[in-house]
Amino acid sequence: MHIYVLGSAAGGGFPQWNCNCPNCHGVRTGTISAKARTQSSIAISENGTDWILLNASPDIRQQLFDFKTAQPARQLRDTGIRSVILMDSQLDHTTGLLTLREGCPIDVWCTEMVYQDLSSGFPVFNMLKHWNGGLQYHQIDPKQAFKIDGFEQLEFLPFVIQSAAPPYSPHRHDPHEGDNIALIIKDHKTQKQLFYAPGLGKIDESIMQIMRDSDCVMIDGTLWTDDEMQQTGVGVKTGREMGHLYISGEGGSLSYLNQLERPKKVLIHINNTNPILNENSTQCAELKAHGVDVAYDGMQIEL
Ligand SMILES: [Zn+2]
Ligand SMILES: [Zn+2]
Repeated sequence: MHIYVLGSAAGGGFPQWNCNCPNCHGVRTGTISAKARTQSSIAISENGTDWILLNASPDIRQQLFDFKTAQPARQLRDTGIRSVILMDSQLDHTTGLLTLREGCPIDVWCTEMVYQDLSSGFPVFNMLKHWNGGLQYHQIDPKQAFKIDGFEQLEFLPFVIQSAAPPYSPHRHDPHEGDNIALIIKDHKTQKQLFYAPGLGKIDESIMQIMRDSDCVMIDGTLWTDDEMQQTGVGVKTGREMGHLYISGEGGSLSYLNQLERPKKVLIHINNTNPILNENSTQCAELKAHGVDVAYDGMQIEL
């Protein structure tokens, strides 16, 4: 399985257009050593030509421009993107669908809960009906493995994440199974497994077992500390209130990753306030010392 990181930042990207936190200001002015990053999305392929998008970020136009492999140019209008899987209905993971409208019909895989949000609070399914067949809905049962036509060796197993639906969801205050999922992706040809969880509010034994059995884990690296948004003055919510487990210290995701021997460990969905974005930070050095990679746009992994 080929994995290509289209975007590695959390919502807002890095730098966020209206933010002057030390990281955003630093990368904008070139005064810190850091790479700009677009909003999180990855692409998966078996053959290197046909790809499945995992989330469709608002930055997708730039991401696909930079990802030349996704344009095989076999005919006048063409794309290597065959399908889209949505992990939730958050704007930073779904608004890219609007940008893909010229390529409709597009196969979109998501849970019934996500489909409801995207047919009501943010009705992108309804809107795009007016573009050549629009978005073709394929339902993900959050408890059941599924396959996608044209990708015979890949199997997708959803894992239910406990987290709230977006503010515009009709069931924002009434959480349902399937509002948010992570994915276990098995490649039956190479016998390798990826665990992709860009939003992870907590790590329990069941997630630890999945990660032990995986060859690569790409997990939530949104925040270094739980109160980072408050500390940097950009927000009032804690990480866990937003469904993102912090990385550092006791109970942080790094303490769990340190218990794993098998998988390649990658943090993705990095918020622009996170000190690990500064390549000269002690936090970045700490991750390096523990063998944990920070995803960047254009990163490629083979499993
Ligand atoms: Zn996000
Ligand atoms: Zn910022």
